[in-house]
Amino acid sequence: MADKVCLVCNKAIAEGKDMKWNHEGKWLVFDDMGCRNRFIGNPKKYLDAASA
Ligand SMILES: [Zn+2]
Repeated sequence: MADKVCLVCNKAIAEGKDMKWNHEGKWLVFDDMGCRNRFIGNPKKYLDAASA
C-alpha cells in the first residue's frame, strides 16, 4: 500500500502522525499543522496542483 503524501509539501506522512482536514466532504491528510494551515489558507492552489 502506498504511503500517504502531504498535499502541500509532497513529503510522506508518518503513520499515526497525519493531520486530517475535511474539505467539502473529502478527508485530506497533511504531515503537520503548518501544511494544513497553508492548505486552509489557499485550498484551490493545492487542489488544482493535485488534479493537473
Ligand atoms: Zn506537508
